[in-house]
This record gives sequence, structure tokens and C-alpha cells, in this order.
Amino acid sequence: MAGGGALSGNAAMPETLIVGGGLIGLAIGWQLAKAGRSVMVIERDSPAASPSGASWAAAGMLAPLAEVGFNEPVLLALSRASLAMYPEFVAELEADAGQPVGYRTEGTLIVALDNDDAAWLRRQYDFQQSLGLPTRWMDGNEAWEQEPHLAPSVTAAAFAPTDHQVDNRRLMTALREAFARAGGELRTGTEVVRIQHDGDRASGIWVRPSDDAGADPELLEAPQLVVCAGAWTRLLMANNLPAPAVPPIRPVKGQLLSLTMSPLLRLSYVIRTRRVYLVPKLDGRLVIGATSEDVGFDTRLTAGGLFELLRDAWEAVPGVYDLPVRESWAGLRPASRDHAPVLGPTPLAGLYLAVGHYRNGVLLTPATARLMCEFLLTGEVPEAMQPFGLARFHRRARMHA
Ligand SMILES: Cc1cc2nc3c(=O)[nH]c(=O)nc-3n(C[C@H](O)[C@H](O)[C@H](O)COP(=O)(O)OP(=O)(O)OC[C@H]3O[C@@H](n4cnc5c(N)ncnc54)[C@H](O)[C@@H]3O)c2cc1C
Repeated sequence: MAGGGALSGNAAMPETLIVGGGLIGLAIGWQLAKAGRSVMVIERDSPAASPSGASWAAAGMLAPLAEVGFNEPVLLALSRASLAMYPEFVAELEADAGQPVGYRTEGTLIVALDNDDAAWLRRQYDFQQSLGLPTRWMDGNEAWEQEPHLAPSVTAAAFAPTDHQVDNRRLMTALREAFARAGGELRTGTEVVRIQHDGDRASGIWVRPSDDAGADPELLEAPQLVVCAGAWTRLLMANNLPAPAVPPIRPVKGQLLSLTMSPLLRLSYVIRTRRVYLVPKLDGRLVIGATSEDVGFDTRLTAGGLFELLRDAWEAVPGVYDLPVRESWAGLRPASRDHAPVLGPTPLAGLYLAVGHYRNGVLLTPATARLMCEFLLTGEVPEAMQPFGLARFHRRARMHA
């Protein structure tokens, strides 16, 4: 493999190298480091710039009930298991990092604003009930009493008391701190340009400074390589690895914006409609999202995208009209072909994946970290992880051939 003039090997080789310092890579790294492993996380972004990953861009909802219609059924069990881990995960992380992560447990109101919405919501609710999920139906008045900032036109709501939320940006900051305190090493401003493989074994990664595309890459070696590169996974893996080792991940763009809540308009529930969600953070931000666009790696904000978010948010909560605008941004959801994550081994020995968390990566962080750590420490794929292996895509491809 070309590596022209590269340094080879390193004095203190870590046992595990993780590509990508988003929530998934950091949470796995933190848990592995706590278990006594030497771990290095490689992240392309530099600390000076705003992070480019989905974990920073997300809204932070922990919403298996509201998202149930979007997901494959097999994902619901994992999502609910991860939600159930959240209180303990947050307590452990806050203690390890010495900082709060803005975890909120008021719940989520999914509201209907007209008769079409009400018919859609009733179908969602009936589906949730058929699965035994703890949602509760409310008429317009009851919803309005619960959250008086809702538009008077609200016709009905489904209350999802266990769909909680967290401040995903604080979660990331806390994970970085906890990872470092546990002895992990985070190398920022460093891009992984390719994965080294010899025959059927992956043995290292070639890295260079993110801001110096002309620099000779350096080889870092480790017995375990874990790719947690989010929406960029295929860009990294597809150019030199055998096709069966490369997961089918594509970026799905989401635009969001945030407003600053006022003492007169301070929401506590997450509010969702068929078209938009409003997520009130403890620091006073009201995050409004999100578009869903299949446009590759384009993260430009568009007038139409922001206009529709604001219009739809205003229809649900008219008082947002007067709130100051704080920020607008876009992120890339890492979507696999079936919208479920891809976890565990690849056909290359030593190369592992934790990618493809799509719309639910914040929610799935505790379960992913726990399952992946168990796997990386023991070599055994835990039962709950088995439906999420890379092999499922190749099985399907063979069946359809
Ligand atoms: C608009 C939007 C809203 C969302 N809302 C929610 C929500 O409310 N609830 C929820 O549960 N989920 C939500 N998600 C989904 C969630 O954000 C993702 O599933 C999750 O953050 C994925 O985490 P990750 O660590 O896999 O990826 P990322 O956070 O994208 O991290 C990947 C990291 O890898 C780095 N990287 C990539 N390639 C390389 C390379 N070659 N070398 C070095 N580093 C590299 C990137 O810089 C990045 O930091 C949302 C996502 C978006 C975009």
C-alpha cells in the first residue's frame, strides 16, 4: 500500500483505535478505557472549530415512541433498552466528567393541528398501543391545558411520557472529559485517510493532519480498529477495502435552527407535529428541526428549509414568532440501507463497525457503547447485537441475486 515516506508503527501502540470522535466513538472509548483498555480516538475536527458530526448537530430527543413509525420493528427493542439505560448512563457520566448533560424527563407531546393530522396521529397512536407502548391520547383541550403555549387549533395529542431528551452537545463535551479522565487519548485535527489491510486482516490506519492534505500519512497500528465515522464511513472505507467489508451508509441532511426562549415562553415538553419538532433545552435554547434531504454531503442552509421549519413551528406554538433567533445549522445523519445501525465485526479480522445510527444515535449511545464494549472485550457478539451485523446486507443481496 502506498504510504510514501510514512512513519510506521508507534512506540506505545494502543489496544484499540477508534475512528471518529462523535457520541458513538467517544462512548465506546470511555467504556473501554474504564475497563482498563488503552484506547485512542482519532477525530478530524479540530477543537477550535465547531464539530461537523451529527452528534453536535442533533436535537437530542430520546424518542423511541414518537419515532416508532419510522423504524424497523427490530430497532424498537434496542431503542427502548437504550432509553432504559439512560438514567444510569447519565449519572455515571456526570460523575466521571464532573459536569451536567442536560437530561430532561418531562416527556413529549405529539400534536395534531387539523383533521388530516388527527387522522395521522390516530394511526400512530393505534400502532403504538398495539405494541403496548405507554402513550396516552388527549383531546385538544387536555393537550392545551398540559401545554398552554400550544396553538388553540390543536385538535388532539398523544403524550409519550417516557420520550425524554438530553443536551447532545453537553453530552459530547462530558464524554470527551470522561474519556480523558479514564486514561483515553483523543487526537483531534487528525484525518484518517485509509485503513491498512493485509489479506484478510486490518492492522492499522493512515493518518495526517486535517489541515495539511499534502502531508505524508503516518501509520498507527492496533489489534482492534473500530470505525465510528458516521456519515463519512463509506468515503473512508470504500476506496481500498473489499466491498463485503464496507457498510451501506449514506448521509441524510437535516437543517435546524434555535431560538432563545423568554420568561414568558419557556416550554418544558418536547413538542412534535407531523412536520416539525421543538426541543426546549435547559440553557434556554429552543431547538427546531429538522428537514430530511437526500443531497449527499451538501450541508448548506436553504431559505426554503428554514422557512418551512419556522412556519411549522409557529403553527404549533404561535409564540415562537417573537423569540430571538440564535443559531442555524445543518448535519448529516448516517443512514444505513435499512435505517438500523451496523454493529460488530467485518470480514476483515481486527476491523469493527459502530455506524449507521441514522435518526436515533443519541438515543442509541448507551446501548451501543455497552454492547460494543462487551463484544470488543470478549470477542463474543452479544445476543441483542446480533440483528445489527454487517452480514445482513450481504445475505439480502444474495437472496435477491
Ligand atoms: C439534524 C439531525 C437531528 C438529529 N436528531 C436526533 C435526535 O433528536 N435524537 C437522536 O437520537 N439522534 C438524532 N440524530 C442522529 C444522531 O445525531 C446520529 O445518529 C449520531 O450522532 C451519530 O453519531 P456518530 O458518532 O456515529 O456520528 P458523528 O457524530 O457524525 O461522528 C462521526 C465523527 O467521525 C469523524 N470522522 C469522519 N470521518 C473521519 C476520518 N476520515 N478521519 C477522522 N475523523 C473522521 C467526523 O468528523 C465526526 O466527528 C440527529 C441527526 C441529525 C443530523
